[in-house]
Amino acid sequence: MDELIYFTRRQLDSKGEARAWVYKGMCEKCKKGLMGKPRDEKTGKAKIRAKEYVCPECGFMIEKKAYEETLDCEIKYTCPECGNEDETAVPYKRKKWQGVDAVVFQCSKCDAKLGITKKMKDKKEKKG
Ligand SMILES: [Zn+2]
Ligand SMILES: [Zn+2]
Repeated sequence: MDELIYFTRRQLDSKGEARAWVYKGMCEKCKKGLMGKPRDEKTGKAKIRAKEYVCPECGFMIEKKAYEETLDCEIKYTCPECGNEDETAVPYKRKKWQGVDAVVFQCSKCDAKLGITKKMKDKKEKKG
């Protein structure tokens, strides 16, 4: 999981579902290091709230949002509209979708627009 900056699994309506993940990108400058969150010099721990990514090889730094928008979000899904199962990749960029921020993609079969929203904190877990 260390190679991923994002992984999620979502129910799409009642019939569909999607899994989405984003791999860390190579440093665009030296093309040797995997960009990651900067580390605290004393503890060596990654600063997960940092607003930027840094290359461990050459120290190149890039703003978090600008960096993430260069990455691809890979998606494996079952379309809730037509039941089509497929894979796709879209830019890891959130757009407004049904009034919320989501990574938006299209079903390859029926062209339905589907969105992977941020996790809803207030959503109750299903039991049973
Ligand atoms: Zn680098
Ligand atoms: Zn479909």
